[in-house]
Amino acid sequence: MSITPITQSNIHSVKKTDLLSLTLPQMQEWLLERGEPPFRAKQLYSWLYQRLVTDFSVMSNLPQHLRNRLAQEASIGPMIVRSEQHSKDDRTRKILLELNDGKLIESVLMLYPSIGDNNARATVCVSTQAGCAFGCTFCATGQMGFDRHLISGEIVAQVLIFARELRDAPWAAKGDREGRPYYTQNESKRAEYSRGDPRGRPNSSAPIDHITNIVLMGMGEPLHNYDNVLQALRILNSSDGFNLGARHMTVSTVGLVPAIRKLSQEQLQVNLAISLHAPTDELRSQTMPINKKYPLEELIAACKDYIATTGRQVTFEYVLLAGVNDTAEYAHLLGTLLAPLKQFAHVNCIPVNATSADFKSPSGEAIRAFRSVLFEHRISNSVRAERGDDIAAACGQLRTRFEKNRKQQ
Ligand code: SAH
Ligand code: SF4
Repeated sequence: MSITPITQSNIHSVKKTDLLSLTLPQMQEWLLERGEPPFRAKQLYSWLYQRLVTDFSVMSNLPQHLRNRLAQEASIGPMIVRSEQHSKDDRTRKILLELNDGKLIESVLMLYPSIGDNNARATVCVSTQAGCAFGCTFCATGQMGFDRHLISGEIVAQVLIFARELRDAPWAAKGDREGRPYYTQNESKRAEYSRGDPRGRPNSSAPIDHITNIVLMGMGEPLHNYDNVLQALRILNSSDGFNLGARHMTVSTVGLVPAIRKLSQEQLQVNLAISLHAPTDELRSQTMPINKKYPLEELIAACKDYIATTGRQVTFEYVLLAGVNDTAEYAHLLGTLLAPLKQFAHVNCIPVNATSADFKSPSGEAIRAFRSVLFEHRISNSVRAERGDDIAAACGQLRTRFEKNRKQQ
């Protein structure tokens, strides 16, 4: 017989309930099982999501016996920040988080000053899985393989970490020029005429102290972890708690057709982004193995039905890989593929963040040319400004680097 000695670490390993995984009705139920009246759940929710506290002892309107019991039986998003990096311009911040079973995930905060008519934004890029099962060839996370799904509290906690950070130290643009590369001529003109600084510099605005948007574009495939992801979004949406509007949330998917159809039936009006990255089955199957299971015809049909059901626009992400999918010919094919969706399709061109020697980002000229062809097809499109290159911005890169260093030590 072997006896496990009681150590500091396994004293705490008694399974605690992660409160960030509970919807308000579930929290009421949990408290009821412990003999507490339902109104305590609202109080607790307010401490967690409005006051953003991490310590039960400060919850002054809860009776002492309940605070003690919570400390014994519950936790508030247990995870450790292993590393934090800020880009030189402090508009991108990336954290590496260790979950309570040692798995590592990344989350990113992206800060946008107010320019012209656009308000300042603070967007969290959230991970939904540790690793990913889908193996897209240009993606650092895809090359790691799949560890596990995140529970909803682990998804919610990533947003709260940055919410606390901004509350404690609100962010204001330093007034330097926002990088706006690859404008087409029309866009440059529009920027000139927009309100605010004529050269597209940020308006002077009040510091931003809260999270305005979340995008599920971190590690993992959100729709492969459907139930936990939807639960997390509902928790963040709750008006008794964090109160983030569903229209400020974006789910990005590799293209899981049955899950896209399921999502269209949910009573939660989130934005949908599809990782398309190629306009032909032949090319898409080379970089995105999932295309063999759900080819383009099925994927576009699902998007069409999604639009018909929800009346909402769908964004198609298109990672530009120099010499692979960025030619004028592919731009024409993309225009033709999306034409049936009319004004309900928007393409977001994303110069690849090179994670391996296999892929390079196209030149500014090539990006402009690609976009012009899309405009010829009347496909609305934009280009994602590269950010955070100096801190390994593509998700999965920080963890890859961290694990390499750990092995070398
Ligand atoms: N699994 C989901 C969400 C996470 S990936 C999905 O694939 O949509 C979020 C976005 O980042 C996707 O559009 C993905 O294709 C893109 N991406 C992955 N690797 C990238 C890289 N190296 N450079 C730029 N974008 C990348
Ligand atoms: Fe997974 Fe998305 Fe990366 Fe593909 S792009 S491997 S689906 S995280």
